[in-house]
Amino acid sequence: MIYNGGCHCGAVRFNVDMTIEKVMECNCSICSKRAHLLSFAPASHFTLEKGENAQTDYQFGKKTLHHMFCKTCGIGSYSTGTAPDGTKTVAVNVRCLDNVDVKHFEVIFYDGKSN
Ligand SMILES: [Zn+2]
Repeated sequence: MIYNGGCHCGAVRFNVDMTIEKVMECNCSICSKRAHLLSFAPASHFTLEKGENAQTDYQFGKKTLHHMFCKTCGIGSYSTGTAPDGTKTVAVNVRCLDNVDVKHFEVIFYDGKSN
């Protein structure tokens, strides 16, 4: 299914083709502060429609992940990185998808703090 989403002010807009069965809640240092609920898709299924220059790429720690956020409204609607098998992957904040009620998804807890 194709989902549309973006930041709060509308500067960043994207679409992503993915199946959301469960969403991931992670307790790592950034996810716990951002309160993200994540769903993952190959980067080839993700299209940034607008906002390439409206974003900031925040990196920390090992700097393997790119935690993009909007320079204007501050919302981080997705992050990008490379999965262990080498696939370029996008972690989408399901809370930033249009017309999606996060209550409908089962939440899987991931102990990112310890990993
Ligand atoms: Zn914005």
